[in-house]
Amino acid sequence: MTQTITKKMIQQMSDEQRKNHYHKVRMERKKAQIDAAITRADNQKGLLLVITGNGKGKSTSAFGMVARALGHGQKVGVCQFIKSRTDTGEEAFFNAQPNCEWHVLGDGFTWDTQNREADITTSKKGWDIATKMLTDPSFDLVILDELTYLLSYDYLDKDVVLNTLSERPEMQHVVVTGRSAIAELRDLADTVSEIKDEKHAYQSGIKAQKGFDL
Ligand code: ATP
Ligand code: MG
Repeated sequence: MTQTITKKMIQQMSDEQRKNHYHKVRMERKKAQIDAAITRADNQKGLLLVITGNGKGKSTSAFGMVARALGHGQKVGVCQFIKSRTDTGEEAFFNAQPNCEWHVLGDGFTWDTQNREADITTSKKGWDIATKMLTDPSFDLVILDELTYLLSYDYLDKDVVLNTLSERPEMQHVVVTGRSAIAELRDLADTVSEIKDEKHAYQSGIKAQKGFDL
């Protein structure tokens, strides 16, 4: 049985006891609010998450979700656009998992390829593979790594991409990463995280290192 605390009892408390008492009161209130919010938020559906911004941590955050999903025995598809390297730690690790399908679909950074037409052709081929995943309900989670550039550079038809995302299987989660996400993609997303670049080791002349950046 909970004891009723009177004003007089509070006055007689030491400072420390009073602090503990008010903390308990605040936490009881907070728990009631959180429990009520959890009861209200009982819907489940496939979510679209956009991780954008100039700071480091977009792709690695998405790969953290790949680990989570695989840990639950779910099936995951990863499409890596733009980048062409196939020697990353994430690919070596996740591609070896039976429930993970991994595609490196880029030709390299735009400033390396310097060929808009070729970039567009590569993007469309990559998008065809992504579309297969986005229309296949057996994929619980699909990662579209660096997809944002294909929209901001107009390499893919915006409407086609947004429609495919909207029409995907109901319970399928999708994570899109990359800088400069266009407004329409942000609007469509359920969750948008903007990773801020406060500082980056690269600015002090430190190159990308294995296990940390790739
Ligand atoms: P990560 O894959 O490390 O999570 P990211 O996905 O947030 O990075 P990208 O734009 O895809 O960022 O970056 C690719 C590479 O550029 C990574 O090696 C990353 O460390 C590096 N990088 C990320 N942010 C910055 C930055 N603000 N300045 C310089 N280099 C960066
Ligand atoms: Mg990235």
